[in-house]
Amino acid sequence: MTATLLKGAPIAQHINEQLSEEIAHLSDHGITPCLVSVQVGEDEASRIYRNQQEKKAAALGITYRRLDLAPDMTEGQLAKQIHGLNIDPQVHGIILQTPLPKGMDLNAMQEAIDPRKDVDGVTQANLGAVMAGRPGLYPSTALSAYELILSTGVPLKGKEAVVIGRSAIVGKPVSMLLVNQRVTVTMCHTGTQSAGLLEYHVNRAEILVVATGQPQLVPGAWVREGAIVIDVGINYVDNAIVGDVAAEAALERAAYLSPVPGGVGPLTVTMLMRNTVQATRSLTGF
Ligand code: NAD
Repeated sequence: MTATLLKGAPIAQHINEQLSEEIAHLSDHGITPCLVSVQVGEDEASRIYRNQQEKKAAALGITYRRLDLAPDMTEGQLAKQIHGLNIDPQVHGIILQTPLPKGMDLNAMQEAIDPRKDVDGVTQANLGAVMAGRPGLYPSTALSAYELILSTGVPLKGKEAVVIGRSAIVGKPVSMLLVNQRVTVTMCHTGTQSAGLLEYHVNRAEILVVATGQPQLVPGAWVREGAIVIDVGINYVDNAIVGDVAAEAALERAAYLSPVPGGVGPLTVTMLMRNTVQATRSLTGF
């Protein structure tokens, strides 16, 4: 078997077309969605993400504003800046770029964001919404992995899924999105690895999502025949980008595999834009 590659770009293209229609509808009412990216200090990876976000926003007709703040500012000052964006009616989405400078409490700063403008889905309110299966702004990377799974058209109910990685913005919300579709989900993490049980669980997975940041953690030989494999990992090894799955060998066993680069990544920014349009519509009532 050679897996079908699950590429993010064609799916993103399809979603962009829907977003363009919604943005045109908003424009008819004099509204332009506006996303503000808040950066405290400097970070190379954030610089690249912000450029990608700005490019995608411009292509769709979403206003993208950068708020660059000094690295030595206090948490109180940052919270005040975020509050200013919360109450600004021209602003519909806020994304707080990470990492924050050492010593700043990321969770507290994320909680300062109005959940209705939290387009990265990092506040407790939105994480709770994904858990409860209620409407909300879900984390964009988790949405991207989920959309790739949906794009296979394979009926999900009753399937065995294994998610490796338990972060609040990827592993946990992906697990919840799948559970809400009546998928049987096993969550794995460093504890599973310490117990020597990763291979056992991966072997069982009809749907496998790997989000660990550990290059080639999953050998291809572990992958179940016919599985849907979503590789979320982005790792820089010898000047190349690789995922968390040994893709070449996995391709021989899986039915679908998302490549790195080119799978989850291109769709994540689109999901951020979709959340921005969703936030604009619910804030403005259009
Ligand atoms: P994180 O560091 O917050 O979480 C990693 C998780 O992996 C942890 O829960 C940890 O328990 C688990 N883990 C780590 N090593 C493990 C091991 N050896 N065995 C089993 N489990 C292990 O990371 P994150 O923010 O969830 O991101 C995960 C990966 O996804 C990273 O490579 C990141 O770069 C990538 N990512 C990609 C996108 C995208 O758009 N493609 C977006 C966000 C994150």
